[in-house]
Amino acid sequence: MPEQTPTAESTPQRQNLLGMSREQMEAFFLAIGEKKFRASQMMKWIHHEGCDDFAAMTNLSKPLREKLARLAEVRGPGVVYEGASNDGTRKWVLEVEDGSYVETVLIPADNGKRRTLCVSSQVGCSLDCSFCSTGKQGFQRNLTAAEIIGQVWVAQRSVGPRRDSGNRPVTNVVMMGMGEPLLNYDNVVPAMKLMLDDNGYGLSKRRVTLSTSGVVPMIDKLGDDIDVSLAISLHAANDELRTELVPLNRKYNIRCLIDACHRYLSKCADNRLITIEYTLIKDVNDQQQHAEELATLLDELPCKINLIPFNPFPHSGYEKPSRNQCMRFQQWLYDLKHTATIRTTRGDDIDAACGQLVGQVKDRTKRHARYIQSIQIDAD
Ligand code: SAH
Ligand code: SF4
Repeated sequence: MPEQTPTAESTPQRQNLLGMSREQMEAFFLAIGEKKFRASQMMKWIHHEGCDDFAAMTNLSKPLREKLARLAEVRGPGVVYEGASNDGTRKWVLEVEDGSYVETVLIPADNGKRRTLCVSSQVGCSLDCSFCSTGKQGFQRNLTAAEIIGQVWVAQRSVGPRRDSGNRPVTNVVMMGMGEPLLNYDNVVPAMKLMLDDNGYGLSKRRVTLSTSGVVPMIDKLGDDIDVSLAISLHAANDELRTELVPLNRKYNIRCLIDACHRYLSKCADNRLITIEYTLIKDVNDQQQHAEELATLLDELPCKINLIPFNPFPHSGYEKPSRNQCMRFQQWLYDLKHTATIRTTRGDDIDAACGQLVGQVKDRTKRHARYIQSIQIDAD
């Protein structure tokens, strides 16, 4: 038989090690005839050191480094734009596999002691909440585990390797960027496992939070598979209004969502609280009756309430309540024995605030060019 010349098609694709969980990494090394302990060495290079060059991995033998270069790669998302807001918030626009863009935001707090990274799980979102600009762009695709953890990797790398910076550049992660994380479960959970793994980012379970609009069956599954903090995007305490804001409520109503929260808490070993997110929208859900309904609904649930003043975007049809109105709402809750924090809007000047993470979905129009143009203007 004549010998076949390898072509681009016949050359096996190199495996991207970036999104591999510890188990997957161990299986990879065993499959290429190496010892299992190489997995933790590799994970430390990738996630602690931010290294993507096998040649620089000096505790691996030269033949192994060469073998890895043939069979594998460490490929993170491309950084299309990096911006810093006046308030210290940093934002990255990342290009993922098919040329789509996702956005990741690092928000400092507590005099720099806490640095929370807001991570995206999908390009776009299919759930179409009426007040969310991500929802308005429709759904493009799920991010892979490598693309999800790649956002943490990029943020961490841009601050420098862990050993140099002394501190951890990222201290908390919230899955509150673009997309509904529980509709991309198979990629989100392995990525979150890497966030918790000591050879990954070593974050504690209380410092990794998944936010969901209420995909009830997956909340149950999440509680079985991993222990992280849970945030629920509630936004209304009666089904009629919630269905208007979060159409998914038609499928999983408020009662069944609250029941799922109780089940989730019963699986946590410590006395965890659910975070209830409530976007305050002027004259829609910011009146006293809404605060009373909310307080009654949450009376039995161990939770903390996070009020998010609506972040306006063009053609949303909604308005942001005044600062005073937000504080009145907070006080009504307080009078009913519920404490609530008001989330300060961060990174407004770089479009990094909640619900402004639009990213760009690749299409056949000139969007790409327009986008690059617009961010160049932003960056000036
Ligand atoms: N899909 C998930 C996580 C991403 S949205 C979820 O819905 O929970 C992250 C948070 O931002 C949610 O609480 C969401 O309701 C809120 N949000 C979305 N658009 C917003 C806007 N325009 N203003 C304020 N908060 C918004
Ligand atoms: Fe999707 Fe969350 Fe936006 Fe709703 S609020 S459209 S679930 S990203």
